[in-house]
Amino acid sequence: MIEYENLKKVNAPFFDDFNKISSEVIASGWYILGTQVSRFESEFAEYNGNKYCIGVASGLDALILSLRAKNFEPGSEVIVPSNTYIATILSIIQNNLVPILVEPDPLTYNINPKEIEAKITNKTKAIMIVHLYGKACEMDPILKIVNTHNLMLIEDCAQAHGATYKGKKIGTFGHCNAFSFYPTKNLGALGDAGAIVTDDPTLNTDIRKLRNYGSDKKYYNELLGYNSRLDEIQAGFLSIKLRKLDEINLHKRKLARIYEENINSNFQKPILHPDFYDVFHIYNILHEDRDRLKDYLLENGIKTEIHYPVAPHNQEAMKGILKGSFPISQKIHANTLSLPISFSTTEEEAMQVAKVLNQFKS
Ligand SMILES: *Cc1c(COP(=O)(O)O)cnc(C)c1O
Repeated sequence: MIEYENLKKVNAPFFDDFNKISSEVIASGWYILGTQVSRFESEFAEYNGNKYCIGVASGLDALILSLRAKNFEPGSEVIVPSNTYIATILSIIQNNLVPILVEPDPLTYNINPKEIEAKITNKTKAIMIVHLYGKACEMDPILKIVNTHNLMLIEDCAQAHGATYKGKKIGTFGHCNAFSFYPTKNLGALGDAGAIVTDDPTLNTDIRKLRNYGSDKKYYNELLGYNSRLDEIQAGFLSIKLRKLDEINLHKRKLARIYEENINSNFQKPILHPDFYDVFHIYNILHEDRDRLKDYLLENGIKTEIHYPVAPHNQEAMKGILKGSFPISQKIHANTLSLPISFSTTEEEAMQVAKVLNQFKS
């Protein structure tokens, strides 16, 4: 059986270092916002090319606090892709702001820059983009719109650690950018974890307070804050794995190349372009008969996943909140299938996946 993901195998190369660091944290007697968190924050800021990094409890919290820091008036509008994981949209709703959905480019699956301007009103305050599946958004036209309309830009980087656009790392374009270190992400912890990166000193100090009850001095609270702190042990694990992030990304790119070169044209594959350094958090293909294809692969010993089966605007929880129809997004959700592309997937396994796929009778 070729697995879709195996986190034990992914993390096995790090077990010795993980055991060492957790023993150190246990013996230190200091468990919240200590040396592990501040070390990981400086290492990740340096890796990504940002001035500041603030560790928080999850990717969703990183998005929520990025918006919260700006204190936009309730009812203000935030532009967001219709084709994303629900977290992006939830972070807007949970700030009492209004998500305005924009359809994707059907080839990149990312927000279509040409569709953004028509959605801007005098209530628009921010654009929240998502570098879906590990591919950067088309940043030049997006930055132009952000500057013309004087909007805040937030990047949801949860699926794209280390990806670049025209040689510049994602997470360096927006005012405030959110990462998730959920265990399956390219840089994954052994539990929940997230971070915000920024170059803005005010956003840095405010978000640092917001994650810690609105306080940077114990028992003095300046802002209405949250409890969303990155855990010391997770920060220790993340420092260890960060050293291997480029290697993890290279492995995924090697598997993606095998798929690109060996899967036939009955399937729509991710497009490649020299401006984009993709890190393939997910390698998806599109096929009209997706559900039968998924069953066929399983019968032939290959596990796959669907990212995602239901578009955000069709989710039960969004009834009455997300209005309008989003046919491009809906079609992607109906036809997309994610192939194994884990750090633990071997090149032989990827060859086998391609071979079995090509024998599918549609
Ligand atoms: C994983 C993910 C998140 C949320 O991250 P958590 O750490 O699970 O809260 C947000 N946005 C996108 C696009 C994601 O893939």
